[in-house]
Amino acid sequence: MNRKEMWKRIEAHSQPWDMIVVGGGATGVGVAIDAASRGYDVLLLEQSDFGKGTSSRSTKLAHGGVRYLEQGDLGLVMEALKERGLLLQNAPHLVHDLAFVVPNYDWWEAPFYGLGLKLYQLLAGKYGFGVSRMLSREETLERLPTLKTEGLRGGAVYYDGQFDDARLLIHMVATAHENGAILLNYVEVTGLTKDAQGFVDGVNARDDETGQEFHAAAKVVVNGTGAFSDRLRQRAEPAATPMIAPSQGIHLVFDSAFLAGESAIMVPHTSDGRVLFAIPWHGHTLVGTTDTPIPAATLEPVAQEEEIDFILASAGQYLAKAPTRKDVLSVFAGVRPLVRAANVASTAVLSRDHVVHIDRSGLVSVMGGKWTTYRHMAEDCVDQAATLAQLPERACVTQDLRIHGFHTAAGEFGSLSVYGTDAVAIRKLIATDATLADTLHPALPYVKAQVVWAVRHEMARTVEDVLARRTRALFLNARAALEMASTVADLMASELVWDGMVKAKQLAAFRSVASNYCLGQ
Ligand SMILES: Cc1cc2nc3c(=O)[nH]c(=O)nc-3n(C[C@H](O)[C@H](O)[C@H](O)COP(=O)(O)OP(=O)(O)OC[C@H]3O[C@@H](n4cnc5c(N)ncnc54)[C@H](O)[C@@H]3O)c2cc1C
Repeated sequence: MNRKEMWKRIEAHSQPWDMIVVGGGATGVGVAIDAASRGYDVLLLEQSDFGKGTSSRSTKLAHGGVRYLEQGDLGLVMEALKERGLLLQNAPHLVHDLAFVVPNYDWWEAPFYGLGLKLYQLLAGKYGFGVSRMLSREETLERLPTLKTEGLRGGAVYYDGQFDDARLLIHMVATAHENGAILLNYVEVTGLTKDAQGFVDGVNARDDETGQEFHAAAKVVVNGTGAFSDRLRQRAEPAATPMIAPSQGIHLVFDSAFLAGESAIMVPHTSDGRVLFAIPWHGHTLVGTTDTPIPAATLEPVAQEEEIDFILASAGQYLAKAPTRKDVLSVFAGVRPLVRAANVASTAVLSRDHVVHIDRSGLVSVMGGKWTTYRHMAEDCVDQAATLAQLPERACVTQDLRIHGFHTAAGEFGSLSVYGTDAVAIRKLIATDATLADTLHPALPYVKAQVVWAVRHEMARTVEDVLARRTRALFLNARAALEMASTVADLMASELVWDGMVKAKQLAAFRSVASNYCLGQ
């Protein structure tokens, strides 16, 4: 993937595109993969970096959603369980199964959760992960040695999938590109153009790096802008009724010592009625999340103090050593692109199902859903968009489409396992220059070669792209990421030929963003 090459292909493209997709998160990139692999001619434009929005800020679970089972949404759970299985099948280098323990403190919890989790396992059918079962008190503590023991009766274990969201997304961008799509980051769609009948027939866009503005024509435009969907819809029709109810969720990241062992904790009911997860992730402990309605989405949402206090207090109820503010290595927030419903009091009960909505202007918006179900959302959206645009009928092929880097034993690459087959090429890079094996910070496993790789092959354009999404340094340990920033900037400067001023600007921009991930004492 190379931005210059992508630009050349756009400039040489004189016909209208079959489809232009706006938004480079899981939804938009999923649509680009689906449409390109059917043989359609696709352009995707992302205003910031791929995954800058919600798609890098999730709990990182490929799951059916135990909670939706309790809400009686069997259809959604079954669909998500199937997609969870397909994700593992098509991206085994990035998705793996993980044991979740539901600790029991009341007598009724064992039969209640035991039965529910059995049903969850059965609903997965042939896409099942591990077998769920009841655990004695001793077995529970064997799996979760740092769980609070007071009043503990036992537990239930079940299995779900875990993944690295931003890395999966970058591999999906590569997959879309390998199937013929052109995808550009740092290009904002500033407007939609219409034909004489008032149907959307293209986009106006601006390259953030050069300021260059351009128009691209399309047979159909797909709005995959997540929590920003209404903004784009209203660019086509200012009077369009808003459909998104944005809701913020945050996570806190701690040292791995807070959650010893290899299992996660799942608390089905916190004091606000939500699910709380404490999960081992990349050698750290990830705890979340909240569900706070917000007036409008922003690209860099900030955790609210009440949300931080809530997660700390809830984690303290279950962990033997209650974490405090000074233990927080990183805090990050994301915005759920939930679809509004009438007569619903809380965003926590809004459906996580997706909606494909076609406005009178012919703009196709695909909204809501979950990371886990991106493939199914894309299939549904492309079916409808292709019919609307009268594209030649072609069947969806993504059920068995391997994601870039596919490797069934990527564990052998150690800390490079998330790259799958690309790990071989990164090792070759290191073989040409041994200094590229140097780690960037003693607290994290990242090496210099990953920065060079990200710039040369993954379209990383800023220090933040490398530290937040090509590696996950900012999400794991914000202070370490800040300390790594100048080495990263030096490496990027020599790859991208930045002068001193550009480098200083890059570092200042990163420090400003990173300050949101550090918690004051
Ligand atoms: C706290 C939290 C935890 C979650 N946990 C999970 C989980 O564990 N498992 C799961 O399955 N799901 C989870 N989800 C849901 C999942 O993360 C989202 O459903 C998914 O990431 C949404 O992806 P998206 O592509 O629709 O939106 P986004 O990722 O936000 O992408 C939209 C993109 O559109 C771009 N854009 C906007 N306007 C324009 C424009 N004019 N021009 C160009 N680009 C534009 C934005 O920059 C953005 O990158 C979670 C969500 C939250 C908030």
